[in-house]
Amino acid sequence: MSEDIEALAEEIRGCRICAERFAATATGHRPRPCVWFARGARILVCGQAPGMRVHEAGKPFWDASGNRLRAWMGIGEDVFYDQSQVAVLPTAFCFPGYDARGSDLPPPKVCWETWHDRCLDALGDVPLRLLIGGHAIRRHTGDRRPVTEVCRDWRAQPHGTFVLPHPSWRNTAFLKRNPWFEAEVVPALQEAVATALRD
Ligand code: SF4
Repeated sequence: MSEDIEALAEEIRGCRICAERFAATATGHRPRPCVWFARGARILVCGQAPGMRVHEAGKPFWDASGNRLRAWMGIGEDVFYDQSQVAVLPTAFCFPGYDARGSDLPPPKVCWETWHDRCLDALGDVPLRLLIGGHAIRRHTGDRRPVTEVCRDWRAQPHGTFVLPHPSWRNTAFLKRNPWFEAEVVPALQEAVATALRD
């Protein structure tokens, strides 16, 4: 039988495995796991790791990336932040910090290894899964091709799975270079989101 999801969420909120690692980053911050899920959600958003704004707010995708992601999904904050409808499961639950050049460090692998299988088991079947950005795509699918290539091949994903580029402003150039994404993938995604929420 699956473990109690609320107890698991509390356990993750108390996790401090990466305390020393984060203290040694340019940001020198403490772990603050951003846990946002409940059993019965219809959509599973598998992202990368919180950025600084999400770290401070304690709310996933509470930034410009989240605005773009919600626009792609065709839903507003009211639905996105309703945990009975949308669950967010990042590759790592905490902001990994900045490197010396001010870029986000990669999500700590130990987070995935420690928590991911237990979270998936506790969440149960979720009809629609969005894999967002290279870290999440590689972890969930094992596909190591460039993100653009995997996303261009989006129809090859199993039913109920979408692969998406990270909705960060850094990928604005990607969207300009790849108009097929907003012309083909976004409408299909919006239809799948509406169906998952309706059924
Ligand atoms: S990133 Fe994951 S493993 Fe590391 S402290 Fe946060 S919750 Fe724990």
